[in-house]
Amino acid sequence: MKKLTILLLVLAALTSCKVSVQHGDDAKSKQSSVNTEALKSVLYMQTAAEYRALCYQTFNFGKVRLDNYLKRMNMSKKYAIVVDIDETVLDNSPHAAQSLIDGTNYPTGWSEWIKKAEAKPIPGALEFLNYADEKGIDVFYISNRKEELKEATIVNLQEVGFPNVSDETVMLRTTTSGKEPRREVVSETHEIIMLFGDNLTDFLPVFEKKSIDDRFGLVDKYEKEFGAKFFVLPNPSYGDWEGAIYDFDYSLSEQEKLSAKAKMLNGFME
Ligand SMILES: [Mg+2]
Repeated sequence: MKKLTILLLVLAALTSCKVSVQHGDDAKSKQSSVNTEALKSVLYMQTAAEYRALCYQTFNFGKVRLDNYLKRMNMSKKYAIVVDIDETVLDNSPHAAQSLIDGTNYPTGWSEWIKKAEAKPIPGALEFLNYADEKGIDVFYISNRKEELKEATIVNLQEVGFPNVSDETVMLRTTTSGKEPRREVVSETHEIIMLFGDNLTDFLPVFEKKSIDDRFGLVDKYEKEFGAKFFVLPNPSYGDWEGAIYDFDYSLSEQEKLSAKAKMLNGFME
């Protein structure tokens, strides 16, 4: 108990510490209260070449599997690949980075960022999806971005060069954040052969709002689907993996969330 208290104190000190943030060409330094807990995950996405390599790995392996499917397919049928958008095909780390610089939290600045339509593609996504499109596979984009952001989302996807981007193929959140009803709409006309996402709910509804233990159990249960039908992109910055730590209670303060996270650590000493 004593150790946990010390750990919490250290974490509390870390999250509130002042970090000098250099940004812009003039390298003006800005004193900002940076959330150092989130700092590392955002930096992993923006500076770790390993993150880049993992994204390539996912899409490269997707291409190997797609080539295998293509050999066996009856092309008189329509086939689809379903992808999530955020942190699957578009990189929103500039929004996360700006939040750290400004000391704000999601959703502050999210709509503003989306409306700029300047998100860059996740490494490997563009090449893979254009390859699939050339092979006659229809790509669908199922995202929980709000419907009011649809126009900017379509502009962004089209401008960076993603295939098959239209009002029909970009399916955003309307009534429910659950993606299964939208996958069912795609299934009415297509056989979905592969799904790409950074969150388990991008694959099956059974993963929605599950505890950490249940998430582990379900991933084990569907083990053979990963790298076959389901392809996961890394996202250390946010996702249901984080919500599960505090039972998806997003009303908790940042400090309460941090305490819940600290209690989840599994060490090896008494
Ligand atoms: Mg996502």
